[in-house]
Amino acid sequence: MIILDGNLLASEIKAQLISRVQSLAIHPRRPPHLAAVLVGEDGASKSYVNHKVKMCADLGFRSTLLRLPNETTEAQLLAIISELNDREDLDGYIVQLPLPTHINPDRINQAIDYKKDVDGFHPVNIGRMTQGLPAYLPATPMGILQLLQRYEVPTAGKHCVIIGRSNIVGTPMGILLSRNNYPGNCTVTICHSLTPDLAFYTRQADIIIVALGKAEFIKVDMIKPGAVVIDVGITRVEDSSAKQGYVIKGDVAFEEVSNICSYITPVPGGVGPLTVTSLMQNTLRAYLQEVYTK
Ligand code: NAD
Repeated sequence: MIILDGNLLASEIKAQLISRVQSLAIHPRRPPHLAAVLVGEDGASKSYVNHKVKMCADLGFRSTLLRLPNETTEAQLLAIISELNDREDLDGYIVQLPLPTHINPDRINQAIDYKKDVDGFHPVNIGRMTQGLPAYLPATPMGILQLLQRYEVPTAGKHCVIIGRSNIVGTPMGILLSRNNYPGNCTVTICHSLTPDLAFYTRQADIIIVALGKAEFIKVDMIKPGAVVIDVGITRVEDSSAKQGYVIKGDVAFEEVSNICSYITPVPGGVGPLTVTSLMQNTLRAYLQEVYTK
């Protein structure tokens, strides 16, 4: 069994990004600039955003963090988005999800200028991705593709079963893995909360990508021996013996599944770090106008 080491790949990507930013510094232009909008006090969201801000600093990017109270109205957030869309000193920005329930995430997503949508969630980027046109790819699926590439995991003709159909992970992942290039060419099955007898599908999977958000939901008897297992899930599970009062668990029962699979991502240290580096890669692409001209 081989660990698909997201920390290792993230550090390699980080080194590449640092060297690219340093080579840009000879030009008398400002550095790449990413903004993040955080609404409310969700602990996990705060920690993700802080991590993104720190990564910007490590890479030599500029970052701007806009922290808004939970009571922010949808109209107020839309007004801020409109300002961010108009800012010429900004290459890209993200609105951290989830948003408070009184704000419609689809309306927010659609208001973001797709040229600054470095999260790759806007319908224009998703549509272009679907047709194989240059686009900002959603960060988590983009990170998973890079992990498969880095470890040269064979994908052509493999049956990939994805659990979860969210717009940010499961659905784009299915599109990307069925495309006619590497890593792709899979036969893809997408399972979700209404799939009866989930194990019937997971046991057929050569590659299984799990993004449902239930700690250790996938057990060893649901996996075909030799399968490639990608665990996207991140759940905080209370643990009074842990310093922070919780531990992070993936969607896969790692201890037992790792005994029979061929490759597996750990949680933490698998997909998570690559979600952040992919966002940074998209930001650099925006700065360099590699996908769209301004
Ligand atoms: P989501 O929370 O929006 O939706 C969950 C999905 O799981 C739904 O499509 C639902 O149909 C499916 N599902 C729920 N119960 C199921 C069941 N019993 N059987 C089959 N399918 C079931 O999904 P999301 O936003 O993609 O997040 C999923 C998990 O991935 C969460 O734990 C989230 O924190 C994590 N996540 C991690 C990263 C990362 O960087 N590692 C990035 C994004 C999300």
